[in-house]
Amino acid sequence: MAKTGNIQISSENMMPIIKKWLYSDKDIFLREIVSNASDAITKYKKLVTLGEAAEDEKYKITVTTDEKAGTLTVEDNGIGMTADEVEKYITQIAFSGAADFVEKYEKAGGDGIIGHFGLGFYSAYMVSENIEIFTKSYMEGAAAVHWQSDGESTYTIEECEKEGRGTKIVMHLAPEEKEFLKEFEVRSLLNKYCSFMPYEIYLNPKGTDEDKPVNTTEPLYLKQPKDCTEEEYKAFYRDTFHDYRDPLFWIHLNMDYPFNLKGILYFPKVKKQVELERGQVKLYCNQVYIADNIKEVIPEFLMLLNGVLDCPDIPLNVSRSFLQNDKQVQKIAAHITKKVADKLTELYKNDREKYENCWEDLANFVKFGCIKDDKFYDRVKDIIIYKNLAGEYRPVESFYGDEVSEEDSKSGKEPQAVYYVSDEKAQAQYVKMFKDAGLDAILCDTFIDPHFISYLEYKNPTKVRFMRIDADVAGALKEDSGEDKEIEEFFTSVLEGKNATVKTEKLKDTNVAAIVNVAEFARRMSEMNSFYRMGEEEEGVTLVVNTASPAVQALKGAEGEEKEAAAMQIYYLALLAYRRLKPEELDEFSRNQSKMIEKYLQK
Ligand code: ADP
Repeated sequence: MAKTGNIQISSENMMPIIKKWLYSDKDIFLREIVSNASDAITKYKKLVTLGEAAEDEKYKITVTTDEKAGTLTVEDNGIGMTADEVEKYITQIAFSGAADFVEKYEKAGGDGIIGHFGLGFYSAYMVSENIEIFTKSYMEGAAAVHWQSDGESTYTIEECEKEGRGTKIVMHLAPEEKEFLKEFEVRSLLNKYCSFMPYEIYLNPKGTDEDKPVNTTEPLYLKQPKDCTEEEYKAFYRDTFHDYRDPLFWIHLNMDYPFNLKGILYFPKVKKQVELERGQVKLYCNQVYIADNIKEVIPEFLMLLNGVLDCPDIPLNVSRSFLQNDKQVQKIAAHITKKVADKLTELYKNDREKYENCWEDLANFVKFGCIKDDKFYDRVKDIIIYKNLAGEYRPVESFYGDEVSEEDSKSGKEPQAVYYVSDEKAQAQYVKMFKDAGLDAILCDTFIDPHFISYLEYKNPTKVRFMRIDADVAGALKEDSGEDKEIEEFFTSVLEGKNATVKTEKLKDTNVAAIVNVAEFARRMSEMNSFYRMGEEEEGVTLVVNTASPAVQALKGAEGEEKEAAAMQIYYLALLAYRRLKPEELDEFSRNQSKMIEKYLQK
C-alpha cells in the first residue's frame, strides 16, 4: 500500500524563488543529481573498505534520456536507501536543505553563492514536473522503495521491485524543459560539470563494447607530479581548454596540509599584446565542477592563466562576500601566488634562455600581477626584465641608481633617470642619438608598461624615475652648456604662436640641428587626459636647438625671410622626428619648403 505524506515545509513558495534566481544556471540540477549518485557510490565503497559490504560489480552512473516518455534518468549502484532513509533524507533533509539554501541565498542578496553550490536534490524540480525515486539499500533483505512527488506539497512512498542495489532518479521534465531530453545537450552538460567525477558516467549506453564513459575518473591533476609526463600535461591542457597551442609551462599544485589543494595552472601563449587576455581557471570541489574564474577565491591576475583547481576545503555554499574575508581562502590564494612566483623564479635561475623566450608571453601577466598584488611584486621584483637598446634582456633593477638620501633629495638631487623607448620606429631618431652617444635605454612598448613604470617608481621612489627617450635629450646628451641667447631669442620670435619653448644646447651629434623634447610629467598628464577622454589638449614642446650644428651656426650669418624660413624648417624637422604633423603644420611646412627649393635653384 502506498503511503501518502505531506511535505512539511512551505515548498510551494520556494520553487518560484529558486527558479527566478537560478534562471540562467538551472542546468546545475544535473550536476547535483549526478554528484549525489557519485556520493552514494563513495559511501558504498567506504563500507567495502570497512568490510561491511562486498565489492560486487563495477561502480558506474548511467544517464538516460527518453524523448518519448519525456524523462531524464540518473541511476547509480551506490549505497541505496531504505524506506526510512528516503523519508528522512529526501522528504525531510533534501527539502529542508533547499529551504536553507533559499535563506542563505536571500541573505547573500540573490546572486551570492558560487556556482549555486549546495541546492542538492531539490534543484531537479527546477526542470521537472514530477520526480520518481526507485531505490534499494545495500542492507541485506532491504525492500526496494518507490517514492514520487511533484515537489510541491505531497509525496507517496511504497514498496516496489528493483533489481540490484542503488538508486534511480527519474525526472519527468516540464514541457518547457524538453531541451534536457536531447542527448547532445545532456552530453555537453556532463562534459561541463562531470568531466572529472570519480566514477564512470555513461550516457545512453547501448550495452556494447563501444560504450565509453563521458568522464575521466582520474584527472591528471590528482596524480603526483613525479608520475606525470610532459606529454600528459600537454594533452590534459588541450582536452580541458581546447587550445591547440602548447602551453609554455605549468605548475602542478598538490598538497594535503594545511589545506587540501590540487590543480594545474598553465601559462598559455598569448596573442598580440593589445590587452590582457582573460584565461580560464576552473574551480572544482572534489572533482565536481563549480564555476570559472571565481574572483573571491583566486587572485584576479591568476585568471590570465588557464588552469584547474580543486579545493574541497573552500566553503562554497556560503555567500561570496563571506568568502572574500575568509582566512582559509586567503591562505589558499596566498599559497597559489607564492607557487607561481616560485616557479617563475626557478625558471629564471635555471633556464634563463627559456625564461627570456617566454618573457613576451609572460610579461603582461607578471606586470599586472605586481600592480594587483604587492606581495607578488616582492617575490618577483628581481626577475622582471627589459630589453635594452642592444636588444639584451636585463633585470630592470640593474638600471636603477643608488638610493638618493633624504638630505640629497632636499638639495634637489633626483633619483636615477632610466630612459625608455615606447615606440622604436617613431622614436628612431632619438634612439640613434642615444646609441651614438653610448647611452642606453629600455624598451617599454606594451600597453601595460606606462602603468607598470609608474608602479615601479611608486615602489622605488628614491632609486628610479622613468623618462621617455624624447623627454630630455638635452639632459642626457649635452656636451657642455651651449647656451646662445641670440639664437634662442631668434627662434622664439619665429615660433611665436606655436606651442613651443626654445632652449639652446650644444649636443654631441652635430648633424641634428634641433630636437623636440616633451617633459615626462606633462606628457604623462596629457596621455592620461586623452585616456580618460578629458579633452585632447596638446602638451607644449621644448625645441632644443643644437648650437654645435653647422646649420644653426650658418643661421647667424643669414638674414631676412630666408633666415626665418630656415629656422621654421629646423623646427618642423625636429617636430617630424617626434610626431606626425597636423594638416595645417604640414601645409606650412610644404609651402615653406617649396619656396626654399625655388630660391636654392635660382641661385
Ligand atoms: P546533500 O547531497 O547536500 O546532502 P541532497 O538534497 O542532494 O543534499 O540530498 C539529500 C540526501 O539524500 C543526501 O545526503 C543522501 O543521503 C540522500 N541521497 C540523495 N541522492 C541519493 C542517491 N542517489 N543515493 C543515495 N542517497 C541519496
